[in-house]
Amino acid sequence: MSDIKHHLTDSLLMAYASGNLSEGFGLVVATHVSLCDECRARMEGFEAVGGALMDDEAVAVEPSSLEATLALIERGLGASAPPTRTLPSAIFPSPLQAYAGGDLDDVNWRNVGGGVKQAILETDEETSVRLLSIPGGAAMPDHGHRGIEMTLVLKGAFKDEDDRFGRGDVEIADEELHHTPIAEEGETCICLAATDAPLRFTGWLPRLVQPFLKI
Ligand code: ZN
Ligand code: ZN
Repeated sequence: MSDIKHHLTDSLLMAYASGNLSEGFGLVVATHVSLCDECRARMEGFEAVGGALMDDEAVAVEPSSLEATLALIERGLGASAPPTRTLPSAIFPSPLQAYAGGDLDDVNWRNVGGGVKQAILETDEETSVRLLSIPGGAAMPDHGHRGIEMTLVLKGAFKDEDDRFGRGDVEIADEELHHTPIAEEGETCICLAATDAPLRFTGWLPRLVQPFLKI
């Protein structure tokens, strides 16, 4: 059993399983899923639903929208190969290693002040993805939540007013959330953070994804 307490939402897992998540958020999802058996199982469930939908001739939809849906599912399922497992000794799960060019020791950090370091990862144009290194006891760099922000802890931990986030935990923040995350004393906190402009979800099962769109 892992100690992960903060998980991905169903909407995010569904969007990822159907290929409707940006590359940057997809990287955070894939990295969390590779650390979390619970979310992996839920995601496999959504992938099965996508497959069943394709097989089910009784689904009553307009031919044109059925075609569009099938195209999206096909594209999506093809794009979401299941994340591979990671060696327990690695700090970065394998989906992240592909972007970081290796493990923690290989990161090209840049100082951003206050002992905080960051490294930008190349993903899509809509999402900004970075690795953050925050000394124990230091606060996270200023980050307003204009859209969605996903922060996944890889090493150490941070706390805000309500919660503690340790390795594998993911925090999903939006405009509504105002918090002051602080790295826990004693160990540098390494995080993977992704932010976006407004979310762009298109695709299948829009009603199920809608609650997420309202965020
Ligand atoms: Zn999880
Ligand atoms: Zn935040």
